[in-house]
Amino acid sequence: MTIAAVRTHRLTAPLHTPFVTALRRTTTVDTLVVEVVDTDGRTGFGEAPQVWQVTGASIDGSEACVRQLLGPLLTGRDPDQLVARCTEVQRAVVGNEAAKMAVDVALHDLAARRLGVPLVRMLGGTALVVPTDVTLAAGEAADLAETAGKRHAEGFDVLKLKVGTDAAGDLDRVRAVRAAVGPDVRIRLDANQGWTPREAVRVICGIEDAGLDVELVEQPVVRWDLDGLAWVSDRVDVPILADESVFGVRDLVEVIRRRAADLVNVKLAKCGGLHPARTLLELATAHGLGTVVGSMMESEVGIGAAASLVAAYGTTAVPDLDAAWWLARSPVRGGLRYEGASVVLPDAPGLGITSVTEAKVQDAG
Ligand SMILES: [Mg+2]
Repeated sequence: MTIAAVRTHRLTAPLHTPFVTALRRTTTVDTLVVEVVDTDGRTGFGEAPQVWQVTGASIDGSEACVRQLLGPLLTGRDPDQLVARCTEVQRAVVGNEAAKMAVDVALHDLAARRLGVPLVRMLGGTALVVPTDVTLAAGEAADLAETAGKRHAEGFDVLKLKVGTDAAGDLDRVRAVRAAVGPDVRIRLDANQGWTPREAVRVICGIEDAGLDVELVEQPVVRWDLDGLAWVSDRVDVPILADESVFGVRDLVEVIRRRAADLVNVKLAKCGGLHPARTLLELATAHGLGTVVGSMMESEVGIGAAASLVAAYGTTAVPDLDAAWWLARSPVRGGLRYEGASVVLPDAPGLGITSVTEAKVQDAG
């Protein structure tokens, strides 16, 4: 039994609502879906989301990496030696975490299908329902308050506000959202690197003094400024969550060493898939850091993998898995669905995805 082919699908899927952060604005999910096919005709799916401003990954770059390197590396090899295959993928190329994620997730999906169990079972868990927050795109206070009320009515009780586009107005934005949803909804902030360290301390202390009860603040300062991140963490009570500052294990070691953050946001597209993501979760836990599993703007393929990871390993804070909820329609057949504030995984082998629609297919090996 060997891997017979690795195929790529270039996919652009429209959102029902524009997604806006301090780093970018998008109205589509742009991603490369990868299929790893065995000689029995079973298929595992993975994806490599394009996010120029966060990971630098593009569909073209990920496709070149899969077609020229990772596809040929895997073809003819035994897919049941999952750890060996994933380790080879991680070592085969520098960077290219999104392409590695796509292939790593496809290998895991295929392995679970070959065992006839949901991916979560193969990862060591049984839950098929995972909670998620929902993001409120960056905007003005009144619009944010209105959207917050709408999302709360739809069943979401953890709201993630995108701030950091204008430090002077961010306190008012949080105040407006808290007033709109009342005391029982959890509010977390993501500044996406948008504040200076001084701005971050000013805004967060303002939020604390106003008693607005914010659960955590994600990536207040620019990703490379770990001293700045530590400086902020030292001066505020609200827990600080490192996102863009931590891609892989060495980044997390540095955050731990400098006590730069209280929690880490683990994303498959930053670290290169489920194999390294498990290491990050275990490393964070071993050092007393809190954990969140999040995603880029991804389809049901990547979110299904991240939700399966959470279902098996757990996180200390509610995960951030709403990306596929933003899609106007699903670009795949099968896979997860959203029910209120929950991601519901299918009780089917692997990710439960049977095909990709709306995509252009290429054979990579
Ligand atoms: Mg973030």
